[in-house]
Amino acid sequence: MDKKKILAVNELSKIYKGEGYKVEALKNISFKLELGEMIAVMGTSGSGKSTLLNILGALDEPTAGSIELNGNHTKEMFKEPHASLYRRDNIGFIFQSFHLLKDLSVEENIALPLILKGIHKDLITPKVNQVIKLVGLMNWRKHRPIQLSGGQQQRVAIARAIITAPPIILADEPTGNLDFNTSSEILNILVDMKEQLSQSIILVTHDANVATYADRVLFFHDGNIVDEYKCEANNDLENILEKFKLITERQTV
Ligand code: ADP
Ligand code: MG
Repeated sequence: MDKKKILAVNELSKIYKGEGYKVEALKNISFKLELGEMIAVMGTSGSGKSTLLNILGALDEPTAGSIELNGNHTKEMFKEPHASLYRRDNIGFIFQSFHLLKDLSVEENIALPLILKGIHKDLITPKVNQVIKLVGLMNWRKHRPIQLSGGQQQRVAIARAIITAPPIILADEPTGNLDFNTSSEILNILVDMKEQLSQSIILVTHDANVATYADRVLFFHDGNIVDEYKCEANNDLENILEKFKLITERQTV
């Protein structure tokens, strides 16, 4: 069956320019994200991964190129007020360092995007109940982030990212601060969520094991997409490691 394209990245470039420096962080990259697809972006440090996520989340503007979301061309989306609205309606962010508000309870942190959207209080509680169940934190709703483990805090961040049911989740090293077992739990939640809610995910990682949870891996090097891998559930880890090794060797040439 043909999958539905949700996001198209068209010839995207980003140049950071300042006094005495010019960095080409993204060099004319193009790819498509499908509905319910998880793409892992793997690459060496400085290869442009975070720059890509920032642009996809309209936190930064590309130098050239465009993004199409649901088929709509959105060239103006990087300017305010469009950028904020685009983020609010389309994007859920998950970061390595959780970014929770420490003075709010778990349920208040999770409800925040709905409060900011101006949703009525009576409609917020059932939504919070729904996502808090999905991430398995029913018994922790009145706790503060500091009372939770790293894995539990990341679950709160995931619940917060999905509560508005955004079509796209952008995750920058979401398991970077977690141990192996906790990482697996978090990645399984992301996979479940993608399957249950048809969300599309772009996940940045430098960890081949994390990349095996994705449907497809894009390999970044020096601002380019230099390779791609479709996960098959067979020997994925070995194949991804092999491809990544080739890229890191390129760097030392
Ligand atoms: P990654 O996330 O893959 O480590 P980044 O996207 O953060 O890479 O960075 C890509 C390149 O752009 C690097 O060379 C980095 O130093 C540079 N860069 C990133 N942000 C800025 C900025 N705000 N100003 C200047 N250079 C930047
Ligand atoms: Mg980065």
